[in-house]
Amino acid sequence: MSGALHIQRQNYHATGAARRRVLLHVPTTSVFELDRVSSDVLDFLEESESIVSDAVRSRFDGLYAPGEVCDALSDFVALGILAPARKEYSIAPRPVTRTPLNTLVLTLTTGCNLGCSYCYREDLDAPKAARVMERATALQAIDLLMRQAADQERVAIVFFGGEPLTRFADIRALTEAAEARAMKAGKRVDFSLTTNATLLDDAMIEFFRAHRFGIAVSMDGDEVEHDRRRITLGGKGTYKLVAANVRRLLQAGLERPPGARVTLTRGSGEVGRIYRHLHEEIGFSEIGFAPVTADPGSPLGLGAAEMRRVLDGMIALGRDYADAAKRGERHGFSNMDHLMLDLWRGTRKTLPCGAGVGLLAAGTDGSLSLCHRFTGTGVGSFGDVANGIDQNGLGHFLDRAQAAHPACDACHARSICAGGCYHEAYVHSGDPLAATFGHCEFVRAWLEFGLACYGEIAIANPGFFAAKFAERKERS
Ligand code: SF4
Ligand code: SF4
Repeated sequence: MSGALHIQRQNYHATGAARRRVLLHVPTTSVFELDRVSSDVLDFLEESESIVSDAVRSRFDGLYAPGEVCDALSDFVALGILAPARKEYSIAPRPVTRTPLNTLVLTLTTGCNLGCSYCYREDLDAPKAARVMERATALQAIDLLMRQAADQERVAIVFFGGEPLTRFADIRALTEAAEARAMKAGKRVDFSLTTNATLLDDAMIEFFRAHRFGIAVSMDGDEVEHDRRRITLGGKGTYKLVAANVRRLLQAGLERPPGARVTLTRGSGEVGRIYRHLHEEIGFSEIGFAPVTADPGSPLGLGAAEMRRVLDGMIALGRDYADAAKRGERHGFSNMDHLMLDLWRGTRKTLPCGAGVGLLAAGTDGSLSLCHRFTGTGVGSFGDVANGIDQNGLGHFLDRAQAAHPACDACHARSICAGGCYHEAYVHSGDPLAATFGHCEFVRAWLEFGLACYGEIAIANPGFFAAKFAERKERS
């Protein structure tokens, strides 16, 4: 060590108790368990900010062998946690000059047979007044996906609405057409949809089983919980119908187990209780929670106290997940799955999600939007399925997105968050690139909890993550 070295706090986050300390290397989302020497060296660095050899010697001589301290320092230098001069953000924004599309959302209709009180869609219609996607438009969209995904072996088509099952005949025809096109292109195509499940019948279930659909059902808990918001256009609860249909769906033995998607709004019940109802009484094996954080001023958005309550509930459920993982058992809390997968595969985001990169959504008129939430909104489109992607416009948006939130550069959650959902920002302020820092405390606390669990699981059951996520890593 010839000169002074300076600690680079923006490149790591350490958490955990003194003798079970985990270090997150922020630029690569790599997780390390710190041994005793490394942990003590890190404490010393944090006290000192910058170090020279004499100071290191006088602190550690007699405590550890010099070689051990040198190794720890070398590791920190290699990770960019120690450097000759302070450097800023380590992941350079990258210009996006092409769209390697692998997922296309088809908005089959703007119509929905329900009138859920929290629905975000600006263009939602009653089924009779719905605008629908013509088959010819949908086929152009599928062709666009095959062209844009020329170098990918797998592509995904998501049928969306409104309620997509109001257009089941289209789903059937388009699935078969997409399979034929994929086979010709030498690709595999996966299908999925999100549904309110009120129209689900046995013929649909058999079709979804035969074509390996991934199905997410919007369901918010038990009857009282679900019927608070998920109601018919006439205002009646839908729980009984949905629960009966879902039980038949779950009994059909789909290759990809259907999941429940729970929307948490102001006044929602406790996360663990909702999970147990959907898992034990309905039979879902995967359940994910989406807190509505977009507009805390609205009657639906969760305020700070409710977000804390949601976080506490998620942490309690996450603990059950970790305990099950340590025993080698499966747990269906999918928010934990996503966080563990991010940590295991070393997610390095410079953009908050795949919208506009791997994923685009086609509206009923064929215009291309960032994702399913932006079709039919005031945010302009990025081309259309007939004429292709507006690559310049999209590239410009994504360039601006990467530079939109300088405050994120110093955040240790940046590689898995990268600024948060564009649609949340849009709902909050009308601008998809506006800052929505209201959720940061939640994101960082959830990551902190996840890091501790990740370390515990990796030590107690080292093969867990590879066994669970191998296929998903390949696909990502
Ligand atoms: S939005 Fe907040 S939590 Fe996310 S990276 Fe930026 S500062 Fe961190
Ligand atoms: S913008 Fe938001 S809603 Fe759309 S894909 Fe990204 S995270 Fe999801």
